[in-house]
Amino acid sequence: MSDLCGKVALVTGASRGIGREIALTLSSLGATVVINYSGSKERAQEVLDTIKANEKEAAIYQCNVSDPDAVQAMMQYVVDTYGKIDILVNNAGITKDNLLMKMSEDEFNQVMDVNLKGTFHTCKSVIRQMIRQRSGRIVNMASVVGIIGNAGQVNYSASKAGIIGLTKSLAREVASRNITVNAVAPGFIKTDMTSELPTKVVDEMLNAIPMKRQGMPQDIANAVSFLVSEEAGYITGQVLEVNGGMNM
Ligand code: NAP
Repeated sequence: MSDLCGKVALVTGASRGIGREIALTLSSLGATVVINYSGSKERAQEVLDTIKANEKEAAIYQCNVSDPDAVQAMMQYVVDTYGKIDILVNNAGITKDNLLMKMSEDEFNQVMDVNLKGTFHTCKSVIRQMIRQRSGRIVNMASVVGIIGNAGQVNYSASKAGIIGLTKSLAREVASRNITVNAVAPGFIKTDMTSELPTKVVDEMLNAIPMKRQGMPQDIANAVSFLVSEEAGYITGQVLEVNGGMNM
């Protein structure tokens, strides 16, 4: 993967799981990384400490991505502090699973607000800066279930399908400005998000994966690192599926 020295990256939801691994990987490639989180400062601080122990530049920033004003302030902080923003990874996401007939409107709205609208807010607040810079890389975290659906996740699947549509439309809007916008669609990855699923569900999921194993956060971080690299400069509006063959 190419060197990201001199690049400034913001990773949302970087205090744990996939986002944490993305932050550590981009940092290991040389990028200055802003670690966004919404709740636990301790976990974000641990990611920061890990990066600082390797003598790399990084910062933590608390912000709920579903709050447009807070997102705008976060973007301003990044630009004021580092003078630019080269890479935005929209990774923050939540689930509120339920069968449609039992799902409340609130469960539907909460997932939309964080996953889809959060991605809208961050993209909107970064895009003028990237256009001014005449360069930028945006990677949005979708999901295999945004492509193939999943019982019990109409809210989450709809938010992830929405992210794919947003990604392709924005990619078309800014392609001529040397800004790429892509999505990564993970399959079944070992994180807190998947740690409390009943054994029966886990067994069914594993059975549906040709590689017969869960993915690791590093598998996703590797895909993101490629999409933000110089080498991926002619790739935009794509969905890179990282799922052990779950959907082909
Ligand atoms: P996770 O372990 O639950 O971590 C979620 C991260 O998002 C945390 O850092 C959390 O920060 C942050 N976050 C949650 N709500 C936020 C908000 N409103 N504003 C800012 N940050 C917020 O999840 P994960 O498994 O790593 O998933 C990361 C992304 O990959 C998500 O978009 C998820 O939908 C997607 N994905 C995951 C899988 C999988 O199998 N794990 C599969 C497909 C797609 P706090 O702890 O501070 O709240």
